[in-house]
Amino acid sequence: DIGIPVESAWHSLARPALARPSARANKYSRGLVVVIEGEMPGAARLSACAAASGAGYVILAGDTASDGQPHAIVRRRVTTPETMTELLDDSRIGAVVVGPGLGRGQNARRMLDLALSSSHALILDGDALSLLGTDAGARLSDRRAPKVLTPHSGEFDRMFGPGGGSKIERTIAGAKESGAHIIHKGGDTVIAAPSGEVILGANGSPWLSTAGTGDVLAGTLATQLAGGALSHLEACEAAVWLHGRAAQLCGPAFHADDLIANLPRAIAECL
Ligand code: AMP
Ligand code: MG
Repeated sequence: DIGIPVESAWHSLARPALARPSARANKYSRGLVVVIEGEMPGAARLSACAAASGAGYVILAGDTASDGQPHAIVRRRVTTPETMTELLDDSRIGAVVVGPGLGRGQNARRMLDLALSSSHALILDGDALSLLGTDAGARLSDRRAPKVLTPHSGEFDRMFGPGGGSKIERTIAGAKESGAHIIHKGGDTVIAAPSGEVILGANGSPWLSTAGTGDVLAGTLATQLAGGALSHLEACEAAVWLHGRAAQLCGPAFHADDLIANLPRAIAECL
């Protein structure tokens, strides 16, 4: 008994069908992703690098967003609420990632609030989820624009409480309560939509249990959402599949940067 509620439609993760860019594509039409940097900028950089596999344009925004590799990622120095508001006031933005390495201090909270009050599709991960805490359901259900949460089990429990039912049931309940899509990570990843639809994913690798791989997933998801070709549930499914497949292609003992290097090969299998 894996506790799948009988009324919910569910299936296992399948390889997504992704489109090649058309001859008329340009860097904006392919999706503009913004990643908000925080106290641990390495995490946001991993998200941004992962997003750069497939997105047309990736902006890394934050205090230390100065120079660095790869040069394909555009750095914007954004340290005040005013400069963040200005950055987010761009209708070309397809998705915003907030949370990886954000920190939990006053400034982190301010940046999270600005991201939440924008009308962009949001990927909320890591510290953003911890900052939302038990308010997550109420605050997110008030936000009409799309949002996807990517908690590991600790972050999920902090938002929705640890008790009651299977991982599948609890993830569906969290998605319904918050109005967000949720990718509840782990070796047994559960993807749930607010509608109650649920997808089970186990195509990854236990070698993923290393720091930074979750940040890579957030960036991969941003690219799929910003591309605009997929529904939110399809984008979640595609991101989890690509992330898991890239991990398999890495073999053993990889680190998060190796995972990013293998994303194009995983994407090639979906074209
Ligand atoms: P995070 O906890 O944010 O660092 O994210 C870790 C990433 O690795 C998520 O995508 C998890 O689904 C994945 N992951 C962690 N542990 C395992 C495991 N034992 N087997 C497969 N995937 C895992
Ligand atoms: Mg994480």
